Order: sequence, then structure tokens, then C-alpha cells
Amino acid sequence: MAMAQILNGKEVSDRVLAQLSDELKAISTISQTLPKLVVVLVGDDAASQVYVNKKAKTAKTIGMASEVLVFPSETSQATLLEEIKRLNSDASVHGILIQLPLPKHLNSLEVLSAIDPAKDVDGLHPYSMGRLLVGDLENTNLPCTPSGIMTLLKAYNVPIAGKHAVVLGRSNIVGKPIGLLLLQENATVTYCHSRTPDLESWIAQADIVIAAVGIPKMVKGSSLKPGSVVVDVGINRLDGKLVGDVDFESALEKASFITPVPGGVGPMTIATLMQNTLSCYQKSQESALISS
Ligand code: NDP
Repeated sequence: MAMAQILNGKEVSDRVLAQLSDELKAISTISQTLPKLVVVLVGDDAASQVYVNKKAKTAKTIGMASEVLVFPSETSQATLLEEIKRLNSDASVHGILIQLPLPKHLNSLEVLSAIDPAKDVDGLHPYSMGRLLVGDLENTNLPCTPSGIMTLLKAYNVPIAGKHAVVLGRSNIVGKPIGLLLLQENATVTYCHSRTPDLESWIAQADIVIAAVGIPKMVKGSSLKPGSVVVDVGINRLDGKLVGDVDFESALEKASFITPVPGGVGPMTIATLMQNTLSCYQKSQESALISS
């Protein structure tokens, strides 16, 4: 069997970012206010620091304003909520992202729920999630990783309608929303998680596998249906190397399409965050016009 085609997230995200950069240039010629993203980081988790820096660097590269606010790990819930309130009412801020995971003593759901949905660039506010659930995708920000995956699949014309998609993982950030987006595109969706018996049998039936578990190389090529589409969301460190939740080498021989790690879903996530920030900015400008 032929080797799978690589779903090159780096290449597709570069195209998305180039287009955003053009749009930002055009905005800067007519407006004093640039779209601005604020990323809030609590604590000193090394991986989170890397992700936050990547987000800020990408924003800078495409000409978007951005700021990273770093709070010590012992920051209280009240202080964080107060900060979000301040950012909500700051008209120069169009997107607010709380870098997850938050330290254990903080209530993530309450923190995410405090963000003004109009500035919820990560699409994790219950309002945004609700819009996704009812299928009103036009009027919400979609969570960045799942939305980025859909952009990537569409860029390669991967057929989704009528296919059986098996989602490994049910987190609010990846698993649940990617299942809903695939359902919206008429896939038949099965969710699997840590309590699913006989995971292998589900993977073997999947036309599309979304691996979002956080276990290095858990999905082996031998488990896959020949010709399946494999999207590897996992980012794990193994022997000092970044690896996904899929055993890439063996899956490459079985799949028709596959995302690499790194260079697959990761860059799409960041590009989608930039898209969402621009979209929040545009909507804020529109509502400012309407109310003036
Ligand atoms: P979570 O830890 O929040 O969720 C993991 C999910 O996997 C849970 O639903 C859990 O089930 C399930 N799971 C755990 N063990 C098993 C198992 N043995 N069999 C089946 N299911 C299992 O992780 P996230 O969703 O936040 O992230 C998943 C991975 O994706 C991580 O590696 C993360 O680093 C990466 N990631 C990558 C991003 C990117 O941009 N590329 C963005 C976000 C995450 P249960 O609910 O029962 O506990």
C-alpha cells in the first residue's frame, strides 16, 4: 500500500498567516487601532511558557498587537477574575486567552466563564461552546485546535460526510468540540475515553481517527483501518523528542492522510487563534459603528 499523504499543518498555517498579515496591513492603513490579543499565563509551567511565547511571536510576525501577562502560580481566583474584568472593559483589547492548564487551586471553568464572550478567542466560554453545540458556527469563536483541524482537513479536501470518525479523548479543549465539528460536517462520530473498553476495536472501524489523549505513540498502525485519515493532536515528550499520540512510522504505512508531530495540528492551532482575534476585532468594529 502507498504511504499516507502528509497533512502539512505548517504549510497550511503559513498560508493562513500570510493572508492574515495582508489583512492586518490593510487595517493599519485605515485605523489607529490594531487587533490586540492578550495572553494570560499563571505560573511557570515550562510547556505553557513555550506555547505562550509562540502565540505572542506569531502575533508580532503578522503585525498584530499582543501582550503577555504573567502571574505567579499562587495567584488567587479573585485576583485573576479581577484582571479578566479589567481586560473585558479595556476597549484596546480584542481577544483574551487564558493559557491552560491553570494551577490546581484555580477554578478554570469559572475563570473562562468570566471572559466577555465577544473577546473569547479560545472559544472555551460556555456561551461559545453552546453556540457550537447548537450548530451556530457563524456567531461564535470556535476552539482553536478543533477549528484548526477542520481547516487542515478542508485544505486537503479530505472527505468527512458519511465517514465514521472516532475521537480519542473528550476534553473541552479538543475531544468534545472536534467531535461536534465533525458531526456538523455529517460524519458519524464515536467518542472514546479512558473508560472505553476495547479501544482497538473502535480504532479499527474508524475512517477518521482523532487522537487527543496525551499518551505517546498510543495508536499503532496495526490498529488502523487501511486508508484511514489520522489526525494526531498529542504533544508529548519522549526521550527528549516531541512525539504525538500516534506511532507515526507504522501509521504512515496504513493511513491515507496523516498529520505529523510537530508540524501538523500545533501550527494550525496558533493560526486559528490569530484568525479568531481578527474576527473579534472586526465584530467589535462593526458593533462600534452600529452604536455610533
Ligand atoms: P486531557 O488530558 O484534558 O484529555 C485527555 C483525554 O484522553 C481524556 O478525555 C481521557 O479520558 C482520554 N484518555 C486518557 N487515557 C486514555 C486511554 N488510555 N484510552 C482512551 N482515552 C484516554 O488532554 P487534552 O485534550 O487537553 O490534550 C490531549 C493531547 O493533545 C495532549 O497531548 C496535549 O498536549 C495535546 N494538545 C495539543 C494541542 C495542539 O495544538 N496540538 C492543543 C491541545 C492539546 P477521561 O476523560 O476518561 O479521563
